[in-house]
Amino acid sequence: MPKRKSLIRPRTIAFVLQSGLCCYCGCPMWSENPTEFITKCGITRRQAKDLQCTGEHLEAHKDGGTVVQSNIAAACRICNQGRHRRKVAPSPDSYKQLVSSRMAKKRWHQPWVFQKLLPAFQVD
Ligand SMILES: [Zn+2]
Repeated sequence: MPKRKSLIRPRTIAFVLQSGLCCYCGCPMWSENPTEFITKCGITRRQAKDLQCTGEHLEAHKDGGTVVQSNIAAACRICNQGRHRRKVAPSPDSYKQLVSSRMAKKRWHQPWVFQKLLPAFQVD
């Protein structure tokens, strides 16, 4: 088996292209170092983990999705894990719809995301 290609570069590029926002929930993420993020939001290091930027395979690796830039988006850890934890991963579009409707009800992330993170970044 060939070694899996590194996600770091495409993830970093996607992070910049998306202005640091998760492709599903739209929340601000951090990429290299959480310290500034933690200070700005007044959250714990553990909480910050939820919003760490991860490289999301739009077409899952197990379905043949490869590490090419067009197949990698930047997603927060919660959204990335949530999608692939399902038996059949929903398509990126239908998953995004699901996440948006939960976000609108403030029922996707932990309460601190709505109480601290979004106000700190002035995202509605
Ligand atoms: Zn997200």
